[in-house]
Amino acid sequence: MEIRSVAVIGAGTMGAGIAQVCAQAGWQTHLFDAFPEGLERGMNAINEFWDNGIARGKTTSEQKEEWSSNINTFSDLREAVKDVDLVIEAVPEIMEIKARIFHVLSIETKEDCILATNTSSLSISDIASASGKPDKVIGMHFFNPVPIMKLLELIKHDDCSEETIAIAQAAGEAMGKTTILVNDVPGFATSRLGVVIGNEAIRMLADGVASASDIDTAMRLGYKHPMGPLELTDLVGLDVRCDILNNLAESFADESYRPHPLLVKHVEAGDLGKKSGKGFYDWTSGEKVERDGA
Ligand code: NAD
Repeated sequence: MEIRSVAVIGAGTMGAGIAQVCAQAGWQTHLFDAFPEGLERGMNAINEFWDNGIARGKTTSEQKEEWSSNINTFSDLREAVKDVDLVIEAVPEIMEIKARIFHVLSIETKEDCILATNTSSLSISDIASASGKPDKVIGMHFFNPVPIMKLLELIKHDDCSEETIAIAQAAGEAMGKTTILVNDVPGFATSRLGVVIGNEAIRMLADGVASASDIDTAMRLGYKHPMGPLELTDLVGLDVRCDILNNLAESFADESYRPHPLLVKHVEAGDLGKKSGKGFYDWTSGEKVERDGA
């Protein structure tokens, strides 16, 4: 089956980026969010990305017009998914929410529709069993910012069909991504290592080892990481990383994965990183500024 239409569920940091690359691939793209402000924020982010591209000469107004015409927003989940070839779910990293959505998807989508989840750490097999058609369910783990990052981590589970894997691989290529195929173990190949480095950097900041920017510079210049672990945590979202760490702690029954108390404190204060204006840095001026006491 060739993908021609996609529904993206959740218009946050990831959902907006995924919808953008789907529209750019020429697919009819349905963007759904449970909250009107979520949809508005997502569409603003997409338009801002394209407008910046036009300002920098990387995108033409004609391209923006064509891509925009491929995206429609939906406030009704059933309407958004009923005729599409592929659904990509990008709602918060909470099993109950994802399981509820996959249950609805299995009833409301076409029989051959592929159901993908962008989860960073939850079991694909558990999500698949919440749907009535596990053979059609696969993990499609994108990276932030989606329009720029080349990697797409595909996660298969025991009941995932070879056809589903092949369609997801072809879809990833059509979106301009390089795919890797990984087994369904907690944290897959990428999230586990990423959050462990981030959590350790937070522990070092709390212990007063160095400032946030010096810890980040250590990894950028010492290990050639394009971005330091604290800045990356701000970009990903402190809440998202906190959820992943809690999921890993529970899946591996290993408390060493639990989020550091400083991360939990920021999340409870609503300091979620770049998306809320503050995290380990202050982003409210549009620039990265070191935060006292972060
Ligand atoms: P986010 O908080 O930015 O966005 C989540 C969106 O889902 C919000 O717009 C919210 O309004 C919407 N939402 C909440 N409940 C909903 C529901 N029941 N139905 C529809 N929409 C609903 O989160 P995010 O960072 O985009 O993360 C989404 C998923 O992607 C998570 O599973 C996360 O682990 C994964 N992920 C995140 C990153 C990252 O860097 N942020 C990277 C890879 C994967």
